[in-house]
Amino acid sequence: MAQTKKTIYVDNAATTATCDEAIAAMTPYLKTVYGNPSSLHTAGQLAKEALENARARIAAHLNADAGEIYFTSGGSESDNQALRSAAANGLKRGKKHIVTTAFEHHAVLHTLKKLEREGFEVTYLDVHENGIVTPEQVKAAIRPDTALVTIMFANNEIGTIQPIAEIGEICRANKVVFHTDAVQAVGHVPIDVKAMNIDMLSLSAHKFHGTKGVGALYVRRGVPLNAFIDGGAQEKGRRAGTENLAGIAAMAAALDSVCGGMDKTAKRLSALRDKIIKGLSVIPHSKLNGDPTKRLPSILNMCFEGIEGESLLLLLDDKGICASSGSACTSGSLDPSHVLLALGLPHEVAHGSLRISLSEANTDADAEYIIKSVAEVVEYLRGMSPVWEELESGQKQHLL
Ligand SMILES: *Cc1c(COP(=O)(O)O)cnc(C)c1O
Repeated sequence: MAQTKKTIYVDNAATTATCDEAIAAMTPYLKTVYGNPSSLHTAGQLAKEALENARARIAAHLNADAGEIYFTSGGSESDNQALRSAAANGLKRGKKHIVTTAFEHHAVLHTLKKLEREGFEVTYLDVHENGIVTPEQVKAAIRPDTALVTIMFANNEIGTIQPIAEIGEICRANKVVFHTDAVQAVGHVPIDVKAMNIDMLSLSAHKFHGTKGVGALYVRRGVPLNAFIDGGAQEKGRRAGTENLAGIAAMAAALDSVCGGMDKTAKRLSALRDKIIKGLSVIPHSKLNGDPTKRLPSILNMCFEGIEGESLLLLLDDKGICASSGSACTSGSLDPSHVLLALGLPHEVAHGSLRISLSEANTDADAEYIIKSVAEVVEYLRGMSPVWEELESGQKQHLL
């Protein structure tokens, strides 16, 4: 399907455009330096050098050591490997309890569901109406048999940022492994794995203008990591398979690029985000989901009573706006978002959600067009909604 009309892409939490720096960085590893990093000849050694160079640069952006970075196929694989490994190593010492939140990404939640079926016990912490867990909740949930705490850095649907440094401190004091799914945070907000006492961290290149299908898992030295894919000795035997060198080189270049301009981008996007929030809050019976300030600069999520998120998205698409109702992974299913339900929103309200996730490419004019278009579409949809008629005539109570 060719895209001819101008589109405003505001679904950057689902994936981002690959930046020019990343494309330039990957080309040599497709065209000239195409050796296998495991080969002993010159072509292989040049590839190996490039691989280690990328590893060191990615590590530096997290204040990790190069030896603590393992390349993977992306965020989902990193999450799966981290959780599986921490669970198996906990079990060896008789630990069968895991602490998490109710609104993690499905890469974490579905892995935990499987671990529950295998005999682990999982505590799902409440994230409150503002979409944030407190360090006190984590402290209270930790037991002598807790093998792992896994709490996302920033939520992919509503953008709220968790108190990661405080949680890390608690986990370290209690000698519990702390993993964070930082897929939405890396490249968007500053991260220091040492200062934040993070033991394991998942990241994915395509969420910060790298390419799809490549990511990394940071594992603090001393924390055991089991292989997730068996085969060759790549990644110190922890992740078999010939490395995606072009993707890895692109990931390092993309991270260099976004981290270089992080402060400036954060300031500009926060202002743009707040402008859209302000503009859309004028719509009657609407609500911003998640804490208004403790959030990523790029993500906002709102609910509009009496409408279906899917219809809203399709009509916005007709106007050239690519947005989302929440997670790309759940779209296509009719269930409301587990994230919005975790905030305590009623099903009817959670159905009418809209996530706008920005990138550096978005402008003030985009924000104005989005505000105008959403207002028009919400009014149009409400105009033909029997549910809205019931609400307006007083047959039903407004929830927002
Ligand atoms: C996108 C995303 C993932 C999955 O990453 P992939 O690289 O697409 O597998 C995991 N967690 C969060 C929070 C995400 O936003």
